[in-house]
Amino acid sequence: MNNRVFRPAALLAALVLLSGCQAAPARQERTVLAMDTVMNLTVISDAKEEGAAALDDAVDTLYALDQSLSATGETGQVYALNHAEGAWTALDGETVELLSQSLELCALTGGALDLTAHAAVEEWGFLTGEYRVPAQTQLDGLIALIDYTQIQVDETGAQAKLPAGMSLDFGAVAKGYAADRLAEELAGQGVEQALLDLGQSTILALGAKENGQPWRIGIQDPAGDGYLGVLELADAAMGTSGSYQRYFEQDGVRYWHIIDPKTASPARSGLASVTVTAPSALLCDGLSTALFVMSQAEGTEFWRAHPELGFDVIFIEEDGSISVTAGLEDAFSLAEGYTDREVTVIAP
Ligand code: ADP
Ligand code: MG
Repeated sequence: MNNRVFRPAALLAALVLLSGCQAAPARQERTVLAMDTVMNLTVISDAKEEGAAALDDAVDTLYALDQSLSATGETGQVYALNHAEGAWTALDGETVELLSQSLELCALTGGALDLTAHAAVEEWGFLTGEYRVPAQTQLDGLIALIDYTQIQVDETGAQAKLPAGMSLDFGAVAKGYAADRLAEELAGQGVEQALLDLGQSTILALGAKENGQPWRIGIQDPAGDGYLGVLELADAAMGTSGSYQRYFEQDGVRYWHIIDPKTASPARSGLASVTVTAPSALLCDGLSTALFVMSQAEGTEFWRAHPELGFDVIFIEEDGSISVTAGLEDAFSLAEGYTDREVTVIAP
């Protein structure tokens, strides 16, 4: 009402605020819809314009990666590879690199991660939302089409090929790969603090928060709506795969989007969610999917067998049991309302 009236006190307050803003690093955010996911990017920087420009570039990178790594975009290279009927298909150098790195993870996890689970993902209707439970004869046919060792990659020629009928997708690793890429680009632009939340299931923390404290990330209760725990994250990534992220129900049974390559059906390992932390978001994303396919016991053995990978895990089982590997003993804590639950710490 009286906002045209000159008020020295208000002006002074505004000036104090402004100068305060300059001294304290500013937090800027962008929300993006990419890879079928709502993503939130936060950058903390005292150089406001540089921070904003870095965020704009990050958004462009996400859209470009979405385009090039999507299996459903009919103009994309993954679609072309999947429909090449056994012929070599040209790929971007970057896609070939992701393919090679992903195949290493497929081998490392004994095929629990298998990019060629795509045929089953499609048959169950997870690409279109037209869900169906395939008959056992169809599942047997799909099992024969899941075998990542059949993917051939020619890194120097930047091309790849699959046997006719087989197909692949980067659904299990693309967000992790994107987060690593964004972190690299942001760091190259001088950004030292950022939180890249690519839809909760992949989060990368560059540095810490304004006050130097780690970012606090909610860990979803797979059996409810809220957060069951909090994970402190600084200069590290995390990835979560869960039975609650994408699913449908039929005749009282829930079917989710993580496929056990051995059955071509939703993985039933007793796990409800798996969260992996590691320096690399790609590793987190790939391993969270793979460990979900394994089981708590098998995943624990895998963790013990691979200290060189530098990752840690939060396992939440369908019966509600929570266990964390030793490296997360201090970083993970139960949220309010869950403090009566027990957390088992898994020793190396
Ligand atoms: P989200 O997409 O929710 O982050 P994930 O990282 O676990 O979850 O990836 C799941 C996606 O990966 C599926 O939508 C599918 O495209 C693909 N996928 C499903 N099962 C497997 C598997 N065993 N190995 C590799 N990719 C898979
Ligand atoms: Mg994954």
